[in-house]
Amino acid sequence: MAQVKGQAKDISVASPNSKAKLLARNRDLSALLAVAEVATQSLDIGKILNDTLDKSLEILGFDVGFIRILDSEGKRMDVRAARGLRSPEFQRISTPVDERRNVTRIVFETKEPYVCSDIRKNRLYKNRTMEREGVVSTAAAPVLSKNRVLGIIVAGSRKYHRFTPREIRLLTAFGSQLGMALENAELYDEASRSKAYIESLVESAGDAVISTDLEGRILTWNRAAQVIFGYAKDEALGNHLAILVPPGREKELEEIQNKVQLSGVIRNLEVRRKRKDGVVIDAALAVSPIVDEQGNAVGFLHLAKDITEKQRYEKRLKELDRMKSDFVSNVSHELRTPLTAIKGSVDNMLDGITGALNEKQMRYLARIKSNADRLSRLINELLDLSRIEAGKIDLRPADISLVALTREVNESLRPVAAEKLISLEVASPDTDVSAWAERDKVAQVLMNLIGNAVKFTPSHGKVTVGVRRNGDEWVEISIADTGPGIPAEEAGRIFDKFYQVAREDRHKTKGTGLGLAISKALVEMHGGKIWLESGAGRGSTFYFTLPARQPLRSGEPAGSGGG
Ligand code: ADP
Repeated sequence: MAQVKGQAKDISVASPNSKAKLLARNRDLSALLAVAEVATQSLDIGKILNDTLDKSLEILGFDVGFIRILDSEGKRMDVRAARGLRSPEFQRISTPVDERRNVTRIVFETKEPYVCSDIRKNRLYKNRTMEREGVVSTAAAPVLSKNRVLGIIVAGSRKYHRFTPREIRLLTAFGSQLGMALENAELYDEASRSKAYIESLVESAGDAVISTDLEGRILTWNRAAQVIFGYAKDEALGNHLAILVPPGREKELEEIQNKVQLSGVIRNLEVRRKRKDGVVIDAALAVSPIVDEQGNAVGFLHLAKDITEKQRYEKRLKELDRMKSDFVSNVSHELRTPLTAIKGSVDNMLDGITGALNEKQMRYLARIKSNADRLSRLINELLDLSRIEAGKIDLRPADISLVALTREVNESLRPVAAEKLISLEVASPDTDVSAWAERDKVAQVLMNLIGNAVKFTPSHGKVTVGVRRNGDEWVEISIADTGPGIPAEEAGRIFDKFYQVAREDRHKTKGTGLGLAISKALVEMHGGKIWLESGAGRGSTFYFTLPARQPLRSGEPAGSGGG
């Protein structure tokens, strides 16, 4: 309303104490207020234009008038409201503001009113549409907002009329009122468009999006929230979020809110929630504070996903996995007993306990023995892996000397290497490198890796085992060979169970494909890593790391952890 007063001053007649003038001023003021009122009553642009035109013409006492508004590109003005003009042709007039000289352009450029008492004598009214409608006199004023012309407002008369200064002032003031009202409506329009856009995003989100005030009362509720929790929007709004919390867990909400207020956002919080029908579901939550312009927390935003199915599925997978491990370990166990009997009997026969054997019998028995040995290795490896996977193996780490252990493993493999004339050595810059690990497990890993290196390296090749410290925390063991190498595209899968690189001479290097999978599991049990560097034809180097010392248990003062 402050603007209304300002405008009123402009059009007031500045002469004191004359009763007539005072009356006139009051009349003008109320006219202005009346237009301001209709113009600002609505945020709908069409309604603003029509109401303002009606009221302005009514006050000024004219029966013809129209409003043109600048298009969005600022190039043309289109008729958006008209009174007393019947021809459809007139409604279609769209006037460019930057081409030839015309009244619309003059008002647009000067930002001043333009008055013409007889348009028949004015060459600017070239297209004669008004004349054909019988209009004789017109006055046009700019629709102004912040010194920007948004359009023009025109009043006209079918009788010859000389516009008074008061009429012109009023029409100009109405134009300004209209400009202000349009500006408001436009801002509102923009704001409501972006609001509607965000609302539609939230509404179509796949996750429940729920906002609450600081007390936890629900303020917004989208479609996914309805699907997940079963409450319709009008049932949920205004209720406390506690309607979603299963009995006995009421404290949880408060804890979540406190945490959010302290630390900002909580993500991936797995909780149980209650649906409207009482069914309890598993949900993954993300909760963040809602802050106002000053940065004060005014509420909370909850995003929730129903993960009941996922949880159920994961539980089932774990169960299946356990069943599989149990099965493997049972079967392996059952296979071992008869295999031990077979091996014992073959050994006895080979030892001559059952009498002398001819050469053919010896050969057959040797083959049985070698295959029985392979079978028993396979069973042992399967059993190992299933135990590791089932988490049934406890680690009993201690401080062990790695160089000594590596030498020991090398010695046990030396006969195999010697047979192929492969040189097998340990290269360590330090004689004393210790690790925090379980001796037998590390021996098993070394046996697998050095055993593979010897197995896959052709005669006259070389296998080198390196042991070195890697920073304070880790030791690194490497096993390099001069064998066929492993193609880069297979390196990623080599640690998978049963994976073997396809080779022409595969029959010579029969194995189980489990050694590397077991080694990886054993290294990772210690907290270490295992990897390889290789390429077809370049030989392979396998690496693994182990912790150098016992990790400090939390809560213990540094230095007292031993190691
Ligand atoms: P296995 O040796 O019983 O087949 P592993 O899991 O120990 O099972 O090894 C899997 C496969 O990785 C081997 O079959 C072989 O193809 C490849 N491999 C492992 N070590 C080497 C190596 N040092 N040089 C070349 N290939 C290797």
